[in-house]
Amino acid sequence: MQTIVTDHLSFSYGEGELERQVLRDIHLEIRRGEIVIMTGPSGSGKTTLLTILGGLRLARQGSAQVLGTEMVGASEKARNAIRRRTGYIFQQHNLLPQLSALQNVCMTLELDGTTTERSRRVQAAQMLEAVGLADKLDFRPGQLSGGQRQRVSVARALVHHPDIVLADEPTASLDKASGQECVTILKRLAQEFGTTILLVTHDYRILDMADRVVELEDGVLKSA
Ligand code: ADP
Ligand code: MG
Repeated sequence: MQTIVTDHLSFSYGEGELERQVLRDIHLEIRRGEIVIMTGPSGSGKTTLLTILGGLRLARQGSAQVLGTEMVGASEKARNAIRRRTGYIFQQHNLLPQLSALQNVCMTLELDGTTTERSRRVQAAQMLEAVGLADKLDFRPGQLSGGQRQRVSVARALVHHPDIVLADEPTASLDKASGQECVTILKRLAQEFGTTILLVTHDYRILDMADRVVELEDGVLKSA
């Protein structure tokens, strides 16, 4: 089964004379449970593609089926539904500084709105335990190392058992050991849950975690 299928997907920023095409006829197919790494120079359109697939940005040309939903021209409601089935991990952890690790992970489940506060706390604590942070539940981001913060981000992205994880240069601000630890945990959990991963990176040290590597250059996608 395919989780993501794009066909002739194109995207431009701006209009008229200022229009600038950043994605050109992208054809990408990712099967359920597959781990795909996307590389490519800065400015080649990687983040733009990820945000379209995750429902954060609306594309109008071509086709991008995500979990069976057409994202090109999709309604806000349809994009919202895909957002809820997706976990994001960014280069900067994007955790809320005033909240504890546990509260940050609980936030994902609050957006889901299906469980009680008590069960949210239990699930969040279990996921933080799974990323090796059982003893850091009450720590705020500022009290954690970079690698620990990114592991909180992994827990936050996976706690609602999304079908897809979109990770945008998640190890770029980590040292080698923490970066490797972070992606190893991400891969283990994703395999456990059958999660599909699309991960953008410049980090050649983690390429071997992928089933497949693709390259985006100047808005054109190639197999690496
Ligand atoms: P990458 O993630 O590969 O570095 P991006 O998708 O962030 O590439 O950006 C691709 C191109 O689109 C770049 O030239 C960038 O300057 C431009 N761009 C990105 N976001 C916007 C935006 N919101 N408005 C206009 N141009 C943008
Ligand atoms: Mg980017």
